[in-house]
Amino acid sequence: MKLSRKFWMVMFLAVCLVIIQYHLTSSWLVAPASASNNVVNIVEPVGSEEMLRSAVERLQVDSAVTASVGEKVIKELVMQLGRELGIGGCGEVSAPAIPSKPTYPSPTLYIITPTYRRPEQIPELTRMAQTLMHVQNIHWLVIEDANTTTKLVTELLKRTGIPFEHLVAPMPEEYKKRRGPKPRGVSNRNRGLEWIRANATKGVLYFADDDNTYDILLFDEIRTTKRVAMWPVGLCTKFGLSTPIVQDGKFTGFYDGWVAGRKFPIDMAGFAVNVEFLLKRPKASMPYKAGFEEDGFLKSLAPFEPHEIELKANNCTKVFVWHTQTKSNTASAALDMSKYNNTNLVLLKQQIV
Ligand code: UDP
Ligand code: MN
Repeated sequence: MKLSRKFWMVMFLAVCLVIIQYHLTSSWLVAPASASNNVVNIVEPVGSEEMLRSAVERLQVDSAVTASVGEKVIKELVMQLGRELGIGGCGEVSAPAIPSKPTYPSPTLYIITPTYRRPEQIPELTRMAQTLMHVQNIHWLVIEDANTTTKLVTELLKRTGIPFEHLVAPMPEEYKKRRGPKPRGVSNRNRGLEWIRANATKGVLYFADDDNTYDILLFDEIRTTKRVAMWPVGLCTKFGLSTPIVQDGKFTGFYDGWVAGRKFPIDMAGFAVNVEFLLKRPKASMPYKAGFEEDGFLKSLAPFEPHEIELKANNCTKVFVWHTQTKSNTASAALDMSKYNNTNLVLLKQQIV
């Protein structure tokens, strides 16, 4: 073959290479937007070797370029493409071209949820669980005021995929027997604090009752807590709100329908505490004092004063959590087994209180 002809052959192959490279690079760039943080969508450059091979084969037929020259050229071109696109020489995917690291918001949020057996327990926890399933990097401490864990609760928790602890912490008998308002959820929350002291070194903790309504935006607010953060809670007390009062960007007091001489008149759902800050206060705990649980706990975080509160939810101008209270239902009537044995009602009755 003449030298000039060889020259034009090589030129033709070079042009082919440029066109193929352009084609592959653009298909890479327009990979579907559905690629999530954790998933790398790879548009496999299927056929790059085949395309080159058929181009050279055509040349071989047309101009009698020797098979060995063609083979060499193909190998060289495929290797070059492979190097540039991060694929193996055989066109197989060996590694993603752009390594993607999953990004999780940090630090971990420890969500302490007291709960107890009642007709509303599973519906409340279902709603809450399916809210928390939208939140990343949380560890859910679900603590039952009971002597043993409830199987239906365990099953529900497992289904969420959320890392969780399912613990029990019954209310001490002396408070159970007491007339009038009881310290609801206190044994559970103190058990949660105990678990955090034993298992966590950093993060943020939040007492989230099972019956509230949570906007998932709240959890972004909570995560940045350095010491103690607060924000408004809706549907709370006769004022419809429990919140720090903010003027000119500064904390000036509390707005809550029930102050009762409290230093921190704020609802349980209205504050979060940094774990390292808590760990430096080994005695901090919640008192068994109905109506004064939040105040007692916040005071036990001393040294800590109201002016040090970190104001969240856009300087406490947004409501991201509501103190929803579900109507309490009476336990369901016993099932007449002589009438309904061998029906679906037997299984259903096992799922309700
Ligand atoms: N709770 C509990 N044991 C009880 C009563 C309540 O563990 O005997 C839990 C309940 O599931 C909730 C929290 O403690 O997560 C606060 O209880 P509740 O919502 O009844 O109190 P409120 O919000 O009305 O003050
Ligand atoms: Mn409640």
